[in-house]
Amino acid sequence: MELNLVLLGPPGAGKGTQATHLQRQWGIPHISTGAMLRDAVKRRTPLGLEVEAILASGGLVNDGLITSIVRERFQESDCRNGFLLDGFPRTVPQARALDRLIVGRSPLVILEIACPDEDIIRRLASRVVCSECGRNAPEEVEHATCHDCGGPLVQRQDDKASVVRNRLQVYREQTAPLIGYYEARPTFCRVNGNQLFDAVARDITAALARIQRGW
Ligand code: AMP
Repeated sequence: MELNLVLLGPPGAGKGTQATHLQRQWGIPHISTGAMLRDAVKRRTPLGLEVEAILASGGLVNDGLITSIVRERFQESDCRNGFLLDGFPRTVPQARALDRLIVGRSPLVILEIACPDEDIIRRLASRVVCSECGRNAPEEVEHATCHDCGGPLVQRQDDKASVVRNRLQVYREQTAPLIGYYEARPTFCRVNGNQLFDAVARDITAALARIQRGW
């Protein structure tokens, strides 16, 4: 069964961590636009050079550019049975573009992982990622090694406190309005992200089952 899932929620709400789990559970690709951009920066591709300063400041890459990256990604064969979008859409124009991109496919399921600001700031301050494979390692510590690939775990440049403040402001101004855009759809659901991983995962499974019963 096709599942076209969008994860919404502020930076640090746990989207990436839950996405890794959902990708295994549903057999659909985890498409993280942030991870794709970070990879381009790391490889110093033309795209990477274009977006490097934007990522470092916590601002947003322009809607047309990011939409074309997602459009291209959807052409790959692993998206046949659906996809799991993490970090896209991030603005209402991107959400409108996504609606156009999926014409003829199953409706989008939108899952908001809600989390209060105080909790976000605390989580981002301690979050580390693998500098080789990009895996989020929320329960691990800086300077350890990744248990998937052995790469060094580091803090993301944009998780530094000064950049986090800007990212949260950008989220409030540009991304939070997406909740209003999607909320009235029968395929929208919200879970409380301010819980342990297993509890959030359990609530997500229950929410997705409820939505599917309604189909
Ligand atoms: P993330 O890993 O989702 O927190 O994304 C990291 C950074 O990549 C963001 O702070 C933005 O600079 C950029 N980015 C990722 N996704 C998008 C998007 N859909 N639209 C614009 N910029 C994005």
